[in-house]
Amino acid sequence: MMTRPCDALPPVRGTYTMGAPLKDLVWFRAGGPAEILFRPADADDLATFLAAKPADTRVSVIGVGSNLLIRDGGIPGVVVRLPGTMGKVTVDGTRLTAGAAALDANVAKTAADAGIAGLEFLRGIPGTVGGALRMNAGCYGREIKDILVEATAIDARGHVIRLSPADMGFTYRHTAAPDDLIFVSAVFEGLADDPAAVRARMDKLMADREASQPVKTRTGGSTFKNPPGKNAWRLIDEAGCRGLMHGPAQVSPLHCNFLINTGDATAADIEALGEEVRARVKQTSGIELEWEIKRVGIA
Ligand SMILES: Cc1cc2nc3c(=O)[nH]c(=O)nc-3n(C[C@H](O)[C@H](O)[C@H](O)COP(=O)(O)OP(=O)(O)OC[C@H]3O[C@@H](n4cnc5c(N)ncnc54)[C@H](O)[C@@H]3O)c2cc1C
Repeated sequence: MMTRPCDALPPVRGTYTMGAPLKDLVWFRAGGPAEILFRPADADDLATFLAAKPADTRVSVIGVGSNLLIRDGGIPGVVVRLPGTMGKVTVDGTRLTAGAAALDANVAKTAADAGIAGLEFLRGIPGTVGGALRMNAGCYGREIKDILVEATAIDARGHVIRLSPADMGFTYRHTAAPDDLIFVSAVFEGLADDPAAVRARMDKLMADREASQPVKTRTGGSTFKNPPGKNAWRLIDEAGCRGLMHGPAQVSPLHCNFLINTGDATAADIEALGEEVRARVKQTSGIELEWEIKRVGIA
């Protein structure tokens, strides 16, 4: 896979690492390395890199890998991972501005402390703001599209782009925003409320979640999108897949739309298990499940 030395890339203030393992950066704890991992120093550094990189450079971005299956051969090209310093969250009235590296849970906690309601659902989503924008992440009836005022991204030529909710073209777990955009921040809005009331709702949400989902295991969250009018987990259960295993990869016995790595599963084990589930669901219900987890890289 290794083709391009780092010195063919533009000088940056951040770091390039060749052949960087990604396994420990993603929730599944499986998968291959990045050909080159780029940790920009800040948004300007990222823009400089994107503007000056050789035209044929493949660029992709990862958050904290809570919705990502990186195949065992790794990801060719440059993989961008934003630094923690791009994860600041600030409050102005009922609006919050969050860097794309901010954890959704931190956005939710900051909103609660500031007495802002409506962002409680973010507490249960274990990704970053960048991943949440790309996935239109949501739960318990609310999604990113319900709270977004504006997103800021950098395109493949290094230009800063501002996007309104309409520009984002949100649908269920998807945005129509161009694939080459790397989100760097977002402004969210909620409603003024009593901090204790917001915290109580967040605590309830977390308790419900921990009782019904394997949130403390090596998983990628919901594996498949819910087909219109159906629950993916129910279709998987009816197809007899609860607890099904492929090597050390398993359909969670607790919530069967979650795949888990019970030990040293490879990405190939996990993907093969997912495909087996899709085949069995197709056979029993006639419905083709669509992957929600993003599968990236080469096998
Ligand atoms: C236990 C568990 C529970 C979960 N529960 C939910 C839930 O209730 N609701 C829900 O919606 N999701 C849920 N998820 C899935 C996941 O947390 C979300 O999809 C989250 O938004 C992914 O964010 P991330 O930072 O981990 O992104 P990653 O998984 O790293 O990447 C996901 C996608 O986002 C893109 N991306 C990441 N950062 C950026 C950026 N800065 N700019 C552009 N694109 C970017 C990546 O390229 C990739 O396509 C759950 C996952 C787990 C493990």
